[in-house]
Amino acid sequence: MTQDLGHTDTPLLPGSKYRVHDGTRPHPKVVYPGRPCMFSGGEILPAVPPDDAVILFDGKDLSGWISPKDGSPAAWKVENGYMEVVPKTGYISTREEFGDCQLHVEWATPAVPSGNSQGRSNSGIFMMGKYEIQVLDCYDNPTYADGVTGGIYGQFPPLVNACRRPGEWQIYDIIWEAPRFESDKLISPAYITVLFNGVVVQNHTELIGPTLYKKTEPYSPHPPVGPLMLQDHNNPIRFRNIWYRPLKKIDF
Ligand code: MG
Repeated sequence: MTQDLGHTDTPLLPGSKYRVHDGTRPHPKVVYPGRPCMFSGGEILPAVPPDDAVILFDGKDLSGWISPKDGSPAAWKVENGYMEVVPKTGYISTREEFGDCQLHVEWATPAVPSGNSQGRSNSGIFMMGKYEIQVLDCYDNPTYADGVTGGIYGQFPPLVNACRRPGEWQIYDIIWEAPRFESDKLISPAYITVLFNGVVVQNHTELIGPTLYKKTEPYSPHPPVGPLMLQDHNNPIRFRNIWYRPLKKIDF
């Protein structure tokens, strides 16, 4: 059989400089895809990142993380391949700053929960340091809908509550489209898609603006990149295996 590497006698694609099955069209880069989280012996093993991922936390140290308050070293503890919130030491954020991305985060709440509603094992993942995806033990723990795990806090509840039991590792895979500003004007809001434990809980959700408690606020201009920030809500939540892949528009 001959190899079919493209055609020159096919119609131009609408809005494109390429033809249907165009042999001159650039090829996608090859990426080793890693491996998703797997169950083994009742344990959830960490995912193996794709080989083009940028590692934000590899389970060894917090050298890539600081206190967003004053830039001092992150004060959470690291052991057994995870980091854990040390209550009252404050939020931590990455030195790395990025915009549009695919983000992977694994987290676990204490196996023996205490407190209830928003007081039970609360943390959060703030895209660009401003937009929170809720982290909470919502396994048999009623609270207001836009504060449920997988929700955009204060804005959009998750489509479903896909929480595993407390103590088990849980997985966020997030696709983030940063808001766009021209001088001080918003030209495109942020969009987010979230898979929680493999289940779609946000489907290209358009964010109202940054995350606040008990109120809303419109977007205010910020750079096209920002840090990832994790919340200290006074509960010892664990995180491991945090990485992202920048998503750039490619002229395919
Ligand atoms: Mg939170």
